[in-house]
Amino acid sequence: MSNTPPSPRPAKRSWAEPWKVKMVEPLKTLTAAQRSQAIRDAGYNTFLLKSDDCYIDLLTDSGTSAMSDWQWAGMMLGDEAYAGSRNFYNLEAAIQKYYGYKYITPTHQGRGAENILSQICIKPGDTVPGNMYFTTTRHHQEAAGGTFVDIVIPEAHDPKSEHPFKGNVDVKALEALIEKVGAKKIPYVCVAATVNMAGGQPISMENMRAVRALTSKHGINIFLDATRAVENAWFIKQREPGYEKKSVAEILLEFCNLSDGCTMSGKKDALVNIGGWLALNDRGLYDEASNLVVVYEGLHTYGGMAGRDMEAMARGIVESVQDDHMRARIGQVEYLGEKLHSWGVPVVRPIGGHAVYLDAKAFYPHLKQDQFPAQALAAYLYEDSGVRAMERGIVSAGRSKTTGEHYYPKLELVRLTIPRRVYTQAHMDVTAESVAAVWDARATAKGLKMIYEPKYLRFFQAKFEQLG
Ligand SMILES: *Cc1c(COP(=O)(O)O)cnc(C)c1O
Repeated sequence: MSNTPPSPRPAKRSWAEPWKVKMVEPLKTLTAAQRSQAIRDAGYNTFLLKSDDCYIDLLTDSGTSAMSDWQWAGMMLGDEAYAGSRNFYNLEAAIQKYYGYKYITPTHQGRGAENILSQICIKPGDTVPGNMYFTTTRHHQEAAGGTFVDIVIPEAHDPKSEHPFKGNVDVKALEALIEKVGAKKIPYVCVAATVNMAGGQPISMENMRAVRALTSKHGINIFLDATRAVENAWFIKQREPGYEKKSVAEILLEFCNLSDGCTMSGKKDALVNIGGWLALNDRGLYDEASNLVVVYEGLHTYGGMAGRDMEAMARGIVESVQDDHMRARIGQVEYLGEKLHSWGVPVVRPIGGHAVYLDAKAFYPHLKQDQFPAQALAAYLYEDSGVRAMERGIVSAGRSKTTGEHYYPKLELVRLTIPRRVYTQAHMDVTAESVAAVWDARATAKGLKMIYEPKYLRFFQAKFEQLG
């Protein structure tokens, strides 16, 4: 008989996922030597690793979700007509019901919608304010001749700040910007919910209302990056007074109602592997958009998507707005994040919606930012355990078009992104233990040198060498 006293039971009752597993996909594990070789061959860029060489793949939550049996059943009901597929009308109805927008066209994914919106709205010399940049979004805004201006609140750039809504717009800064450049030079305000680059941080309903009031006064549109707006709605329910009793679906509708349209990557909230859409409330703008969709995506009733994929997305939307789905989804991310935090590992606070972000500056204070600390940290993590993460720091930020210099973002992060309904709590434990091992070895970590730099969105394909 052991003399150890029983350990205390946790104060809170556990939740579990509102689903069970019906089909499994085996994972492969490489040896430590094979992993070292693989990451060297990949130029220390986790985007260039083979999926087969990854054990737990936390590169992204984009297109990596597990679909439900109901979605798979819908795949069999694909109407692959070129024009007017029944699945398009199902998708349109789901977006109208849950997001509340009037006119919808599918796109092959989110960036397809960003391209169309940027082309129809932005003229050379325009300014596009946004609550922090996103890589593809800013690229399309700049390609259309616009200049992105960050109007997120300062707390968003501070990994330690516990502000509950770090994605909020700095309304005073937006007002000053409108004064400075004039409302005519601002085609729209781009509001992301949640803010990916700040760590999956939400924006409050109150803040969104203030942005709506200000922009309405000046006749400026708001277009939402609605990629994770359902996750944002969950945070409003948890954190904003007056919303505790409302459902995620009710909150989502109220939130979207404060905007004039959205771009959407269905690969995130909407629980599908591919797809997106552009939604607009203005008929004239929609007519322009649906005309351009024909040039870049496909006819406006399929926009680059197969009928079956539109059906899966329509059904994914319905599943994504269920409260129990979101409780499990964000609960899993919090489980991993709070575990690391309790061990003293520096992570962005509070834990965001879709990912846990490691603070690479705090891991490696001995590395300068242009020695790519976050890129190096992601590589060390892969080497340790085969867990694949993603850099979200200076490599992702890219270079200024005007000066040619690196952008030096305040946040230098590694993102552990959790695919929806894919991994178990045991996978989260293995991940946490690997991060802890890399944290323990931090003093001897080496930086990187960039040896190949692509012209656009360099983080996807850049290659590196370890510094001596
Ligand atoms: C993924 C993402 C996009 C782009 O969507 P894709 O489907 O990858 O083209 C845009 N904005 C945010 C916030 C995203 O996370």
